[in-house]
Amino acid sequence: MTEASPFPAPRRDLCGAMHVHRRLLNQSMTYRAQRARIENRALLYETGRRSSARRGVVTLPVVVHVVYGSPEQNIDDAQIHSQIDVLNRDFRAANPDVARVPEVWRTLVADAEVEFALATVDPLGNPTDGIVRVPTDQTSFGTDDAVKATATGGSDAWPTDQYLNMWVCQLGGGLLGYAQFPGGPPPTDGVVILHTAFGTTGTAAAPYAGGRTATHEIGHWLDLFHIWGDDDGACSNDDRVADTPNQADSNIGKPAFPHITCDNGPNGDMFMNYMDYVDDDSMFMFTQGQRERINACLEGARASFLVARQAAPAKQPAAAAAAGAPVQAGHNGDVERLLHDSERLTKEVLTDIQNMLGLVGRGSGG
Ligand SMILES: [Zn+2]
Repeated sequence: MTEASPFPAPRRDLCGAMHVHRRLLNQSMTYRAQRARIENRALLYETGRRSSARRGVVTLPVVVHVVYGSPEQNIDDAQIHSQIDVLNRDFRAANPDVARVPEVWRTLVADAEVEFALATVDPLGNPTDGIVRVPTDQTSFGTDDAVKATATGGSDAWPTDQYLNMWVCQLGGGLLGYAQFPGGPPPTDGVVILHTAFGTTGTAAAPYAGGRTATHEIGHWLDLFHIWGDDDGACSNDDRVADTPNQADSNIGKPAFPHITCDNGPNGDMFMNYMDYVDDDSMFMFTQGQRERINACLEGARASFLVARQAAPAKQPAAAAAAGAPVQAGHNGDVERLLHDSERLTKEVLTDIQNMLGLVGRGSGG
């Protein structure tokens, strides 16, 4: 029964991130070039040829766009806060169910050192609760990004290099959510979550009432692939992370350990990883290798979030304090260290660009 059928039955796609990824690869040369660069950087981190310069936790400012077509879809603040709480546990390996990781994989469990806070300052510098509520006449949304623009019945993104944008709405076709991988078009950057799969209270409904859809989608936003490599059971592609076993296809529901595919015995699939498709109460870990990809992303394509972290208090401490902004770099030592890291990152990005230009020059000069 572990043999992959040559004609696998169509599966219900719970997540649309790969659909968007393939669409962008087909449409955009820029996206293809960006993805190649991002993948090269991830490989350097994954193989230990480059190590993370970041020390300590990074806090990502979040804006939640509640796009509602009915009073029920206009979820309350408590449901949004319950989602932020889940993210802050899952990305710190502080979730109580991490204790259920099988013994053989305990040492792989990673604290990704990423935290989330609803924005306290909006793009114009005004105080905000980080929640935008927009009524819509759309009955449901799909993966075409309509929810991300006012003109198409959704809500425009806040600057996506400064805020993690999360849209919460009604989704059709059995979709729980989707994300845009790093390297995509800025106006549509962020994650979209079905309101009944968002947070742990209010409209959140079992088996997706654990807030893990957002954990999974933000995993994509931070450059993690599905743990099975999206090869429809072929065992030929993986998630480009060395410490996650190669597995055939997505797992759903509540699998029993071990579930062996792709000759990955005796331990089998790491289906309890956030990047599989199992029920919310059956997923509870990221690995060390996944953390390296997240680090590569935060110091590469999403480095603006590290820079913003130090720039805000240094530039306008009074305004930020008045607006209730969290103090993100506590004292001068931290600021100096962060500025130094930022300088290093900027140099690295410049080197990358020079290398790319060099390649182009050599290619056309031949
Ligand atoms: Zn996914």
